[in-house]
Amino acid sequence: MHMQDAVTVLKGVGKQKAADLQKLGIVTVGDLLEYYPYRYEDRSHLKSLRAMREGDTETVVGIILQVQDAYLRRGLKLLRVHIRCVDGNAVLIWFNQNHLKGKLQPGLQIVATGKVGKGSVRQISVSDFELIEEEADLEQFQRITPVYRGTEKTSSKAMRKLIQQVFAQEVDGILEVLPESHRDAYHLMAYQDALYQIHFPEDWTHLNQARHRLVVQEFLELTLGLQMHSIIEHKQGIAHTTSETLTHIFFDHLEFALTNAQRRTILEIKKDMERNTAMKRLVQGDVGSGKTVVGVYTLLKAVSGGYQAVMMAPTEILAEQHYLNLKRMLAPLGIVPELLTGSLSKKEREAVYAKLADGTCQIAVGTHALIQKQVQFANLGAVVIDEQHRFGVRQRLQLESKGIAPDVLVMTATPIPRSLALTLYGDMDLSIIDELPPGRQQVKTYCIGEKKRNDLYQFLDRQVAEGYQVYIVCPLVEESEKMDLENATQLADHLSVNVFPQYHVGLLHGKMKPQEKAEIMEQFRTNVIQILVSTTVIEVGVDVPNANVMVIENAERFGLAQLHQLRGRVGRGKSQAHCFLVAEPKTEEGKRRMMVMVKSNDGFVIAEEDLLLRGAGEVLGTRQHGLPDLKIADLVHDVKLLEQSKLLANEILAVGLDAPQYHALREKITRIYERKLLLQQEEL
Ligand code: ADP
Ligand code: MG
Repeated sequence: MHMQDAVTVLKGVGKQKAADLQKLGIVTVGDLLEYYPYRYEDRSHLKSLRAMREGDTETVVGIILQVQDAYLRRGLKLLRVHIRCVDGNAVLIWFNQNHLKGKLQPGLQIVATGKVGKGSVRQISVSDFELIEEEADLEQFQRITPVYRGTEKTSSKAMRKLIQQVFAQEVDGILEVLPESHRDAYHLMAYQDALYQIHFPEDWTHLNQARHRLVVQEFLELTLGLQMHSIIEHKQGIAHTTSETLTHIFFDHLEFALTNAQRRTILEIKKDMERNTAMKRLVQGDVGSGKTVVGVYTLLKAVSGGYQAVMMAPTEILAEQHYLNLKRMLAPLGIVPELLTGSLSKKEREAVYAKLADGTCQIAVGTHALIQKQVQFANLGAVVIDEQHRFGVRQRLQLESKGIAPDVLVMTATPIPRSLALTLYGDMDLSIIDELPPGRQQVKTYCIGEKKRNDLYQFLDRQVAEGYQVYIVCPLVEESEKMDLENATQLADHLSVNVFPQYHVGLLHGKMKPQEKAEIMEQFRTNVIQILVSTTVIEVGVDVPNANVMVIENAERFGLAQLHQLRGRVGRGKSQAHCFLVAEPKTEEGKRRMMVMVKSNDGFVIAEEDLLLRGAGEVLGTRQHGLPDLKIADLVHDVKLLEQSKLLANEILAVGLDAPQYHALREKITRIYERKLLLQQEEL
């Protein structure tokens, strides 16, 4: 058998099973071996029944004596299975699982894991169990047992059996990709051993060593793969050295003084841009830290030297907001920016294309529409990308390729641990705006349920009576935008007619024309509208200091980062600001997310929680970065190992990946990336 053989070479795997396995990404025998357990159960030290503590999760082995089922009440059925263990009797309990009844025959041996309940007789609420049919099963059980994510048709146990079957034979092609010298230096277990131990660990020590080895290898493949596929490259670029007349005028007209952090970041950008290599800089700064002016500086520095510059944002709303801001800020300089989004008419779009191609447009703001083929620049000198984490590397490169090595600045409000940033953004330089403009205050945040809605409205009433304004945000609850619009519209009508007839309630949503939106925002800014109901339109960029209350409906539907963005809209004036999360979270995770918001105003803390709760892939969109999915390494918890892998990668690169001792490694990486590219093409 060879690693590259299809899984159908295995006994018991026919066409159907193979199709089922493919759903898990398993096509070859090698894939199967790299399908790692997602957790383990330690059955190597079974506790005696008496030593078990209520509330702990434990495993018991016993023989089934008797099976009883009972209806507790409507919708709740109880299955009780009495078993005899070596040191006494115990009862296993399942809720609403009566279909198991036929399977659990008296006389069979069973291993079950679950939470230990109250009482003198041991009761266990079973979360996982297995019937032991053969001696071999029991042997497998009396150790640290791997648990796999299966499918409906293929259980964790079935996966385990398949993997066992593979290991029981000669398998060719399990290649050690790391020369012994590196393995010794980094204390890495041999690959073959690691592969076996990750599935069938002898003990926790071996398991940890195996995992360590595989994580380092995966990070290494990731790092080297990025290098080989030149997602990262150094380029000759433009030295923007002409005098900065425009930027001086811009700063003179700015209505506020820059914070130290903004000033430092701008200096870093200035140095980068004046150098003759292309700038690649990532600016990280919490919501409201003032990244926009930093971006505008970059645009203007390029324009000062006669180049064009462009700012790309991930959504139309954000692009429009930047556009309106820029129009205002650039007016004293006599520069008229252009907006390019998907919702322009064909005629409008073509007019913008023409101005970009002949150079009459100096600054453009837009969405993905900017990376369309038809878009050509006369001489693009700088690119600013806002909220980078929502774009992929590919899109960034597409925009860059519209110029000849333009300077690139990407801005993000997602704080990423440094070593992670280094992986995701390659050799980008990092500026951190770690200071908010003066006068920002902590927003008091509350999570409330429907029961408190009347109290909430009374509170809003008092605030508005005192002269303040209120945002009410409705999330994307339904699949369709139309439904969302209806929800928001209904709420606005209801509030305006039934709850706050004495005030002006406005409505803002994504389907409005930019002009309409601007009008509504203007009315809110001038306090003609006191209560603004909106879909998530106001997520970014809006600035009305007199608005000091933010209400977020169905808050549990938002991501933490988004909630933080939304909350950032208030707390800009002098009075105490409040944020109400109207939510009835059902899951533990949901509750925890709301608590994070109530407890913290710090974007970094919130982002870290988000990483922990949702995983790095979700938060940072590693898929969008064109990175292969990680099978075992965890970008958050394994950061230390990522650093080690980087050291190792550097040692390898110093010798050169072409060297014969790295032949196997090189092949493996090429294979991973080729597959990844194939998959991506299929998705397109
Ligand atoms: P973000 O980093 O979230 O993109 P913005 O650039 O939108 O933040 O800035 C948020 C608000 O703070 C804007 O209204 C902006 O005008 C204002 N602002 C930015 N820098 C300063 C500063 N140094 N002092 C006062 N206000 C500032
Ligand atoms: Mg911004």
